[in-house]
Amino acid sequence: MSKGATRALIVGGGIGGMAAAIALRRQGAEVELVDIDPEWKVYGAGITITGPTLRAFRDLGLFEAIQREGFFSVGGHMFLYDGTLLSKTVTPPIEPGLPASGGIMRPKLHQIMSSAVRNAGAKVRLGVTVGRLEQDEDGAEVELSDGSAGRFDLIVGADGIYSDLRAKLFESPVAPVYTGQMSWRVVAPRPPEMDVAHFFFGHKYVGGINPCSQGEVYAFILHREPEPRRIPDGEKAAFLRDLMADFGGSMAVVRDGLGPHSSIVQRPFEYAIQPRPWHKGRVVLIGDAAHATTPHLASGAGMAVEDALVLAEELDRAGGDVPAALEAFTGRRYDRCKFIVDSSVGIAARQLEGAPAEEIGMRMGQAMGKLAEPI
Ligand SMILES: Cc1cc2nc3c(=O)[nH]c(=O)nc-3n(C[C@H](O)[C@H](O)[C@H](O)COP(=O)(O)OP(=O)(O)OC[C@H]3O[C@@H](n4cnc5c(N)ncnc54)[C@H](O)[C@@H]3O)c2cc1C
Repeated sequence: MSKGATRALIVGGGIGGMAAAIALRRQGAEVELVDIDPEWKVYGAGITITGPTLRAFRDLGLFEAIQREGFFSVGGHMFLYDGTLLSKTVTPPIEPGLPASGGIMRPKLHQIMSSAVRNAGAKVRLGVTVGRLEQDEDGAEVELSDGSAGRFDLIVGADGIYSDLRAKLFESPVAPVYTGQMSWRVVAPRPPEMDVAHFFFGHKYVGGINPCSQGEVYAFILHREPEPRRIPDGEKAAFLRDLMADFGGSMAVVRDGLGPHSSIVQRPFEYAIQPRPWHKGRVVLIGDAAHATTPHLASGAGMAVEDALVLAEELDRAGGDVPAALEAFTGRRYDRCKFIVDSSVGIAARQLEGAPAEEIGMRMGQAMGKLAEPI
């Protein structure tokens, strides 16, 4: 990439788009980021940060801030669903100096990343999306929804699982697939003694709790739901209380604190992997727009940040040849991201079939071992 002269447009300001803005600004590119949401907001749930995800955030320069605002530990405790302790596991960090894993509240992560984007000098425009997009040999012409137009050397599509850019770019854009599993997450106060994640097994519903800050945890529960029906907001607390009815231990503490004040997020588990290549000319997809996974390996955010890092590296390596850099980008990312999607969807399927906890644990451990490899 011809440093300083390159103009990049990033479409979508989620974790992937913000990471790309930071990584490309670091190389001196002129970066404009647009997000369709005029308020650029994120919902109030926690997010699990694995070792590989932490490594990616460290390489992006955000490790200290994330460590300060999140909650990190060395492993997890496994329980029977009624709260009986089964085992305590200690996970070694993937690199010395990094915690093993942890969590952070999504709004906090957004605050850290969006400040870093602005401090890096990227121009952010909200409530804006791409209208018309045309490419020639030397660049891409874009008309934006606010009536403005621009010419860019690179367009990064980071607009999530329902990516509009994916539909604009490819004749056969992949459509998200619902897995038959519904997820619930709720934020609750962190009991002072809870300093690792708790996982609950032996029930038809899968549950867990992860500390996300000094003061907060998020609990999750997954259940089979043939159609992705939405429960109205006013009924969510009662519905979730029913799902958690048989659980003991820390899950029971969270359940008993549920009420109209609770921050509850219900989401269907979906995935979508666009066949390669993930680029056309000077336009490339990253993050969920290219490879949305179910969160069984808690790796979607990490993959999006890794995409941004690899994209910046390949642009640097290719000098001014953007299409060659994007070709190399897909080449480096496709197998790793597909492995995550396939492994996660495989775990989901086995959970729905009632596979024993040992098998699920083994599948997760094997996949995480592979993800620890250098990117
Ligand atoms: C229930 C659930 C739990 C999860 N838990 C974890 C976890 O614990 N750990 C983990 O690592 N991952 C987790 N994930 C996955 C993770 O959230 C995603 O992989 C990650 O957020 C992807 O980031 P992204 O930037 O690619 O997309 P998104 O976060 O979806 O961001 C897309 C952005 O693009 C904007 N946008 C959309 N359309 C347009 C448009 N047309 N024009 C302009 N802007 C647009 C949106 O407003 C948004 O800001 C979970 C996912 C789900 C569904």
